[in-house]
Amino acid sequence: MAEKSKGEILKETLSYNVKNSYEKMDEAEIEKAYGFCNEYKRFLDICKTERECSDYIIKAATEKGFTPYDKNKKYKAGDKVYINNGGKSNFLFIFGKKPVSEGVMITAAHVDAPRLDLKPRPLYEDNSLALFKTHYYGGIKKYQWTAIPLSLHGVVILESGEKKEIVIGEGENDPVFALTDLLPHLAKDQMEATLKNAFKGEGMNILIGSRPFKDDKVSEKVKLNILSILNEKYGIKEEDLISAELEIVPAFKARDVGLDRSMIGAYGQDDRVCAYTALMGILDTEEPEYSCLCALVDKEETGSDGVTGMQSHFMSYFLEDIAAITNTTLRDIYRNSMCLSADVSAAFDPNYSEAYDPKNSVYINNGVAVMKYTGHGGKGGTSDASAEFFAEVRRILKDVVWQSGELGKVDQGGGGTVAKYIANLSVNTIDIGVPVLSMHSPFEVVSKTDVYNTYKAMVNFYNYVK
Ligand code: MN
Ligand code: MN
Repeated sequence: MAEKSKGEILKETLSYNVKNSYEKMDEAEIEKAYGFCNEYKRFLDICKTERECSDYIIKAATEKGFTPYDKNKKYKAGDKVYINNGGKSNFLFIFGKKPVSEGVMITAAHVDAPRLDLKPRPLYEDNSLALFKTHYYGGIKKYQWTAIPLSLHGVVILESGEKKEIVIGEGENDPVFALTDLLPHLAKDQMEATLKNAFKGEGMNILIGSRPFKDDKVSEKVKLNILSILNEKYGIKEEDLISAELEIVPAFKARDVGLDRSMIGAYGQDDRVCAYTALMGILDTEEPEYSCLCALVDKEETGSDGVTGMQSHFMSYFLEDIAAITNTTLRDIYRNSMCLSADVSAAFDPNYSEAYDPKNSVYINNGVAVMKYTGHGGKGGTSDASAEFFAEVRRILKDVVWQSGELGKVDQGGGGTVAKYIANLSVNTIDIGVPVLSMHSPFEVVSKTDVYNTYKAMVNFYNYVK
C-alpha cells in the first residue's frame, strides 16, 4: 500500500468526520441494537398515553427491584426507589456510592405526545351521525389526522368515584374511529386554502357511530345509542365525560420501516423513544458511583406546566426529601448535578432539504444527537450548555455513536425541550436525543441504531465516574 501523504495524515488527524453508525458498529452490536428495538416497539404499542407509560414504567421498575419511595425509610448505596406523580409522571432514583451532596446524574424525557383530547362535552349528533368534539393537544398538522384509523384511550371517573380505564381500537377485532376528510372531487375551496386555514380545530370531530336507538319517541337516536353502549360497557353517563380524560390517538402499531428493516415507524416516538432509552438505561444500572435520577414527565408538548410537567416543583420536593435524609441541602445537590435532557431532534429530510442547514443537521443512522442548545431565532427560549460541560459529555460518550447539529435553519422556526427548566435550577444540562423524521405526525420514523446508541449514552451517563 502506498504511504500516506503528509496532507492525508494531517486531514485524518485534524478533521472531524461524521460517520454512519453502520461504519462504527460491528455486526454483533448491530444485531443487539435490532433486538433492543423489538421490546421498544412493544412498549410503543402498549403505551400510547402518558398514563399507559406510567403503568409500564412502574411495572418495569418494580421487576428490577425499585420500590415506592418512603420518606421515613433509611436508604443505602445501591437502593432503588421510584415516586409516581398522579399516574402521569415518574421519578426513578438509585442511591449512589458517593453522598447525594456530590450531585445526581439526572436524565429527563417526556411521555406525553401530540394527540386529540375529547372536549368536556364531546358527544353530539349531526345528520344522524354521532361524533366526538376534540381539542388537539400539542403541535400538530391537522390534515395528518384525517382518514386514518384512530383509537380511544383514557380514564372516566364515574359519579360513584369508580375509575374506568378505556382502550378501544387497539385489539385486532376492536372498532376504530375516524376523522373524515373531503373528497378531492369537491375540495376546490379546500385545495386553494393555505394548509393552515384548510383544516380547523373546530372541524376535528371524530366519527363514532351511525346506528339509531330503536325508539320512535326519542330524538337524537344515534347519540342515545352511543350513550347506551357506553353505559352498558362501562357504566358511563354523559355527565361523567365532563371530568374524563379521553385521548384520540392513531390505532396502528409500530412497524419496521424499509426493506432492510433499519428503521421504526410509530406514533408517539417524540418523546417515548427517549423515555424508553432513559428508562432502560437506569433499569440496567447497578450500584452507580453517583446517585441517578430518571425523570419521565408529562405535559412537555404544551409547555411543561402543571402538576405533572417539568415546571412543577415535584422533582425538587422529592430531592428536598432526599437531601433531608442525607444531611445535605437541595441547592447543594443541584449545584453538583448534571443532566441529559433527552428529547428527539429533527432528522435531515431529503424531501424538505430547504428547511435544514445540511452542515449542521442531524441525520438518520449517525447516532444519538447531542445539541448544545435548541430554541428559535437568536437562540430564544433555550438553555445553552457550556463549553466545559459539553466537553465533559463528549468524554462520557466516547464509545457511543453520536452527532451534533441544530434543529433546522436558523430563521426557519425552532423548538424547545425541558432542558431550560432543569438548567434554571442551576444544573448543568444538555440536550440529547434520537433524530426523527416526520416528527409530531401520527407515524414518526427513527433509526434502530440511533435508538440503541441513545440507550448506550444513558448507561454511560448513569455510570459516569468523574
Ligand atoms: Mn419532545
Ligand atoms: Mn414534541
